Amino acid sequence: MHLVPTQEEVVALLRQTGALRDGHFESPNGLHSNEYLQVPLAMRYYQHARVLSVGLSRLLRANSEIRAMIPELSIVAPGTGGLPVAYGVCEALRAHLVYWAEREDDHLPMRFRQYMEVTRGEKVLLVDDILRSGRNLSELKSLVEARGGLVVGLAVVVYQPTPKTVAFDPLPLYYLAKLDGHYYTDAASCELCAKKTPFEKVWL
Ligand SMILES: [Zn+2]
Repeated sequence: MHLVPTQEEVVALLRQTGALRDGHFESPNGLHSNEYLQVPLAMRYYQHARVLSVGLSRLLRANSEIRAMIPELSIVAPGTGGLPVAYGVCEALRAHLVYWAEREDDHLPMRFRQYMEVTRGEKVLLVDDILRSGRNLSELKSLVEARGGLVVGLAVVVYQPTPKTVAFDPLPLYYLAKLDGHYYTDAASCELCAKKTPFEKVWL
């Protein structure tokens, strides 16, 4: 595998580890899809996790502005899915800090644990396993900025944009693979439902 894995290599790794599955799926929000993607299933395999996070760190290092701030850079994840990526990237970059925000319940706002505070002027790179809707990363960005932190970029393993994905321009966005999922807003508009293909319920 190359120093930075190619799109094809990343997709093959995701399929091989069961993180990317073909079929017919229904999400809790009612969306239907022909594809299931859960990057943490790939991150279970430590050596694969290393390949992904080291690859991502190499993309980041290629940006001279980010490279120059590595000694004072914080890597921050918007939840548990991004944690192994954040720790892998922090280790590979030899960045300063790595931490994460979380929410107790899906309806509650994201927050940091007590004393896990952003300092004023702190340079923060947001890291997650996937950028799809952008809801978590955008909330984390607001949380960091509200505390005086300076978000310098975003890095994810998989970028799966939808027409509703939040735009983070002009911040640089780094990803190893870009995947196009086919989503249907509900069962009525789903082509797979129309073909009477049985579906599996996705619970996370
Ligand atoms: Zn369907």
